[in-house]
Amino acid sequence: MKSDVIIVGGGAGGLSCGITLASAESKLWFNNRRIVIVDDNRSDLAKAHLNNAPGVAPGTNGPDLLKQLKEQLGQYDSASMVNARCLTAERQADGGFHVKLDNGMNIQGQTLVLATGYKRFEIEGLCVTPSTHPLGGKANRIMLEHDGVYGIEPDLHVAGLLAGGSSQYAIAAGIGAQVAVEILSLWAGKRTHVHETVR
Ligand SMILES: Cc1cc2nc3c(=O)[nH]c(=O)nc-3n(C[C@H](O)[C@H](O)[C@H](O)COP(=O)(O)OP(=O)(O)OC[C@H]3O[C@@H](n4cnc5c(N)ncnc54)[C@H](O)[C@@H]3O)c2cc1C
Repeated sequence: MKSDVIIVGGGAGGLSCGITLASAESKLWFNNRRIVIVDDNRSDLAKAHLNNAPGVAPGTNGPDLLKQLKEQLGQYDSASMVNARCLTAERQADGGFHVKLDNGMNIQGQTLVLATGYKRFEIEGLCVTPSTHPLGGKANRIMLEHDGVYGIEPDLHVAGLLAGGSSQYAIAAGIGAQVAVEILSLWAGKRTHVHETVR
């Protein structure tokens, strides 16, 4: 399978990144690109009962919010999800990435976003080393160092709590959206964002 962007992790950060990226699919410079999210259903959000997430109805259970986010992603033709665990991700000679999943599937893509949460990093093959998460509240929480706007190396980004944010849904989702805006700005060749106006 080929995709322009591969997002590993379909929790708050990864889904927010995918939704924001795909929301630009009608722009000319989007150029029919494809986004795939790989996820193995271990999101922390699935354990949450949310009263304080801005824009989310108080009393919402995490699994319902995850379902809603996946449906929101589904409105865009450019995005899809694969239910599997990512085992390895390797940079290719052409600069893109080759990702292997535990269901035997292989995905090749130009851009890779790591949004696997702050509890574990199990993907082999990349030159990244998790460090202690400064805001995680527990000694075993991890993050990946980045350039301040979530870039690790060219075309390699980190999103959600793995980027170092505190454990709130809005923070994880916000970092995912920022990563999407960074990628979209590269594609557009100028700083951009995706807005729609009142109808
Ligand atoms: C019990 C609990 C209650 C909470 N309550 C609240 C609350 O009231 N309000 C609030 O704002 N926040 C709350 N949170 C925090 C919120 O859930 C997190 O901040 C948010 O889910 C973090 O998003 P994330 O994308 O970084 O990680 P996650 O949402 O954990 O997503 C990471 C995803 O990556 C996937 N993944 C990991 N490794 C791989 C791999 N190798 N291959 C494929 N997929 C992989 C996992 O399956 C998972 O789906 C709560 C969290 C918990 C645990």
